[in-house]
Amino acid sequence: MTRPARAIIDPHAARHNLARGRALAPNSRVLAVVKADAYGHGVLRMARLFADADAYAVASLDEAVRLRDAGVSKPVVLLEGPFDASEVDAILALGLETVIHTAEQIAMFRARGRSLPVWLKFDTGMHRLGFAPADCDEVVAAVTAFARPLRFMTHFANAHRRGDASVAAQQERFAALLGERPGERSLANSGAIVARPDSHADWVRPGLMLYGVSPLDDEAAADLGLAPVMTLRSRLISVRHLRAGESVGYGGAFTCPEDMPVGVVAYGYADGYPRHARTGTPILVRGVRTQVIGNCSMDMMTVDLRPVPDARFGDPVTLWGAGLPIEDVARASATIPYELLCRVRMRAHYEEGSA
Ligand SMILES: *Cc1c(COP(=O)(O)O)cnc(C)c1O
Repeated sequence: MTRPARAIIDPHAARHNLARGRALAPNSRVLAVVKADAYGHGVLRMARLFADADAYAVASLDEAVRLRDAGVSKPVVLLEGPFDASEVDAILALGLETVIHTAEQIAMFRARGRSLPVWLKFDTGMHRLGFAPADCDEVVAAVTAFARPLRFMTHFANAHRRGDASVAAQQERFAALLGERPGERSLANSGAIVARPDSHADWVRPGLMLYGVSPLDDEAAADLGLAPVMTLRSRLISVRHLRAGESVGYGGAFTCPEDMPVGVVAYGYADGYPRHARTGTPILVRGVRTQVIGNCSMDMMTVDLRPVPDARFGDPVTLWGAGLPIEDVARASATIPYELLCRVRMRAHYEEGSA
């Protein structure tokens, strides 16, 4: 590992955030969401750090296989179920649990004739995955032959907006379609865990909050009692003094308004940094908050060193994490923290420790 870029994973923060989720939903079990390589943090590492969860959720069979191969024996739920009938044997052999959201998936399991735990997914308003509420009786009848136990779930479209009326409407639709039917229920992702205690039900499904990122628009993670798990670090590999009027980088997108020191950081879009981060995106140099300037390149980016005039070659840089919320970086680059985190795994070297 010859580049100084590092994703530092804080085990205490990870355990703290899971405990925070439990404290917020004390009567619910926790399905820890570790899809997309645990939001870019590394699925095996995070499954170990989230050992206190009741179960894990992933998006595909290969992610579940990695967990089982590593000796994880806890329940693992496939959030999208099988993509193809050829996956059914492996799902059964590995003792996985599955979401079922389409008639095609029902047919796959009926044809196999063996039982497994099923999370039947209903579309209560997000209009992505799930059965229509009106089909509930028919769908339940179709899965009873193999669903043991049968549980019910739905997913919110707008839980990231505190007080959004559509969340309450989805809750009501879910309650109405199930009525008194027996079976555990699950609705809440991170946003709802934090902001909608009345949605917690039997199982909560935290993702983003476990990684210490705020699931609510315009509310800081620290104010919600969450601590960032990933701190992304690199170093300055050049410090130069440019003259007023000189432009920096491809396209010359930043022109120095005065004579000023400019640093080059060993981090770029090939490491997952957003290419469209604008001048003004926050970044820390030796712990001092400054800004990205100009266009990010493949392996490098440029920073304004006026707030750190004595910065030198080799000084540490924090791209996000401890001391710089990823939410601020996402906002300045017109994306969401989820996307920034997932992209890090392209080329990251990980270490564990406190940042
Ligand atoms: C990804 C996902 C979650 C976790 O969402 P967060 O917003 O990260 O908490 C929960 N449930 C389902 C079905 C998901 O796909």
